[in-house]
Amino acid sequence: MVTINDNYLKLKAGYLFPEIARRVNAFVESNPDASIIKLGIGDVTEPLPEACREAMVKAIEEMGDRATFKGYGPEQGYAWLREKIAAQDFQARGCDIDPSEIFVSDGSKCDCGNILDILGKGNTIAVTDPVYPVYVDTNVMAGHTGDADDSGKYGGLVYLPISADNDFTAKIPTEKVDIIYLCFPNNPTGAVASKEALQAWVDYARANGSLILFDAAYEAFISDPNVPHSIYEIEGARDCAIEFRSFSKNAGFTGTRCALTVVPKTLKGKASDGSDVALWGLWNRRQSTKFNGVSYVVQRGAEAVYSEAGQAQTKALISFYMENAKIICDRLSEAGLKVYGGVNAPYVWVKTPDGMSSWDFFDKLLSLANVVGTPGSGFGAAGEGYFRISAFNSRANVNEAMDRITKNLKV
Ligand SMILES: *Cc1c(COP(=O)(O)O)cnc(C)c1O
Repeated sequence: MVTINDNYLKLKAGYLFPEIARRVNAFVESNPDASIIKLGIGDVTEPLPEACREAMVKAIEEMGDRATFKGYGPEQGYAWLREKIAAQDFQARGCDIDPSEIFVSDGSKCDCGNILDILGKGNTIAVTDPVYPVYVDTNVMAGHTGDADDSGKYGGLVYLPISADNDFTAKIPTEKVDIIYLCFPNNPTGAVASKEALQAWVDYARANGSLILFDAAYEAFISDPNVPHSIYEIEGARDCAIEFRSFSKNAGFTGTRCALTVVPKTLKGKASDGSDVALWGLWNRRQSTKFNGVSYVVQRGAEAVYSEAGQAQTKALISFYMENAKIICDRLSEAGLKVYGGVNAPYVWVKTPDGMSSWDFFDKLLSLANVVGTPGSGFGAAGEGYFRISAFNSRANVNEAMDRITKNLKV
């Protein structure tokens, strides 16, 4: 009989969101009249910007005319999109990134996992705790870890705790690690890293020959002018970092699908014969072989993000979510809760009161306010005692949820 990839058997069964659904369903069954407000999911709620929709409608019309029809496009993405990304997302911020170093894809989640195709088996891998689960699970699938222990930590991974004690940016490890996943602005904590904090990571990576996998999916939510949007704003990052970006959160493309990965041509890794090999060539080969590009229509939609109207509309979209985040922060503080994040990211990371566990706080919020959030412990052992509230929702739902919490939750 065919054999399977046993590494999949090491995965902790998708625990977090199914367990949330189970508890919500149980509550609704015994309280059929409760109207539940969900502030748990990391998905956008507001419609696509008009500029993107118009560009896609026009592109569909082009596909319906023999003279302008498009078949396969370049696997790396159309040059007109990559040029705008390079100019407006990177060069305008002083980052030395060329359009040829940008690879357009159908998602950052996919790229975060696929990047492991071009990296070796014996690397020591560091992730933060709490963490976006994709970084961990893709390494488990690739056979880069041992089994999980009772707290959900996998053998072989280096976990870097992030908490209020280290400004949620993780201490530079004392041991040598080969790959470091960093996500700023952070999901789930909403924290950002200062230029100095990122410089320390880049210096560490260059001193140790390590690779930083930098997830900047939420860069557009940064409001503080001193916070870097890209790892390439940091001196030396071209030699040690790959950056993932996405149109999912800044332009509402979670269901439309478009993202990009930057692999600088100067970035190298070691082959088993000891020679240095550019990662760009490997990623280019990987994408050209296993990927056939993002749809023309969607790339036109993404291009429209960079138009004057698109910039204004995405800015308005982000402001809307960040006003939600401010309301959540203000009202929860008013209720006596300690909150983090929510200023440069659409997530508010709430300290549970009185040392309550994340799941106990979940149950309390559900039963007393009929509001659903995400228990911090679901993102890693160090997330215990925290709770994530997402700003992705309608204003009415956010206001109603906060009214209920301030009224019913006595801290
Ligand atoms: C939402 C999100 C992404 C974006 O993923 P896509 O596949 O591009 O939709 C990437 N990283 C993090 C941490 C996210 O929360």
